[in-house]
Amino acid sequence: MKLVHTYADLGSTFSSHVQPQPLDTPELVSVNQDIVQLLSCADFSEEQLAQLCNGEMIPEGGQPVSMVYSGHQFGVYVPRLGDGRAILLGETEGSDGVLYDLQLKGAGLTPYSRDGDGRAVLRSTIREYLCGEALHSLGIPTTRALCLINSNTPVYREQVETGAALLRVSESHIRFGTFEYFSHTRQLDALSQLVDYVVERHFPEWTDADDKAANLLSEATRRTAEMVAQWQAVGWCHGVMNSDNMSILGHTIDYGPFGFIDGFNAVHICNHSDWHGRYAFNRQPDIGYWNCSALASALLPLLEGKEQAEDLIKQYPSFFSKKYASLLRAKFGLSSSKEGDSQLFDEVFQLMHDERTDYTIFFRALGKPDLQDLFIDRDRFNSWSNKYEKRIAQEPSSLDEIIKSMSQVNPKYILRNHLLQIAINKAENGDYSEVNKLLKIIRQPFSEQPEFESYADSPPDWAGDLEVSCSS
Ligand code: AMP
Ligand code: MG
Ligand code: MG
Repeated sequence: MKLVHTYADLGSTFSSHVQPQPLDTPELVSVNQDIVQLLSCADFSEEQLAQLCNGEMIPEGGQPVSMVYSGHQFGVYVPRLGDGRAILLGETEGSDGVLYDLQLKGAGLTPYSRDGDGRAVLRSTIREYLCGEALHSLGIPTTRALCLINSNTPVYREQVETGAALLRVSESHIRFGTFEYFSHTRQLDALSQLVDYVVERHFPEWTDADDKAANLLSEATRRTAEMVAQWQAVGWCHGVMNSDNMSILGHTIDYGPFGFIDGFNAVHICNHSDWHGRYAFNRQPDIGYWNCSALASALLPLLEGKEQAEDLIKQYPSFFSKKYASLLRAKFGLSSSKEGDSQLFDEVFQLMHDERTDYTIFFRALGKPDLQDLFIDRDRFNSWSNKYEKRIAQEPSSLDEIIKSMSQVNPKYILRNHLLQIAINKAENGDYSEVNKLLKIIRQPFSEQPEFESYADSPPDWAGDLEVSCSS
């Protein structure tokens, strides 16, 4: 594997050279064969992969650097963040012709570590590794990972845990906060250089345009709106939508206390540290918009003025609604939109919310006879169901065809918190088999997998007590 490093080539304004600090006795937990194929590294032995993930072996052309950025954390501007535990090794071309960043996460202290230790623990590393694949398999843009390692290095959180590391693979690790950093420190040449860099690498068709910053803002707005619409449609909560956790390419990045919703709760808060519910499930679309405003403010010096910035991000609500509406239509098995559809959707969402009906199981059962078993208030359900049946009867396709098309958009297997917890508990006892089993299952979210039927069940009672916080 040969690397280039176009980001490090931008110079020390954008990143700092660092030295990875390897973990003790690294042990491979899982290797993502999809990414092995993508990056054509099938010739790497397991030992070499572990060395790569541990920062002990830097492929030719690589240079370990950490990226500087800032961002709004829970609405408050923090002037300097940066990669506190991430190290960008370089970029390599995938078999799809796209250039991918390779980034270590958990490889030790960097100039941006602040009071952190530069480490990542096994549980959070497993969560990030698996959820990247879960969202990818659901068709949601996201960072992914080549592999993950565990070690004997003790890492102190609420209790002693083991240090782990992930080799993250992404088209970009540039965040809204990267632009905010250069704008707020008034390094406007660097800001403009960063825009040029993103355009040259990801949107070469705009290279000669004189409104690159405007194009980029508009594109980031659209992609962010559509990504969040996809999260909402599958019932997924990010948990920490700070502007430093928003990718300029509109990819899901920085998995922390995320969660798929089990029993539907419109105001579900997946992050136990989010006391005010800033990042509650139903607030995600607005927060995405808020973050686009933060990006617009950062890009303002390169735009024609405030009015242009506002005009560009003002498109967010319609980008979101259009995408979300089309995703919902498909989830309900409707081929076109008719008057009354959104009331029909709202009515059943309210019912599910009131009864905490399992979101994923509901959609998977939609159109099938046993759907009513999911509800307690049968009269209320039947009243809705009659309207839905009438609506479905107006569709040109047969019910069988509709059910088939719904099963291609309504997943059966999602990465539920309790499944993750079981895999993590085993892994913490040295057994990585459940991590790899889950990886296999969530890769085919829409398929029937009879041997793994129980992985599609609603969660056991103890799952309600699981608390996931920012500690990672
Ligand atoms: P997050 O919101 O979790 O993505 O992280 C916010 C900031 O804290 C980023 O700058 C991270 O790099 C940094 N950070 C998180 N955990 C650690 C850690 N254990 N050591 C150093 N920096 C960290
Ligand atoms: Mg982050
Ligand atoms: Mg994080």
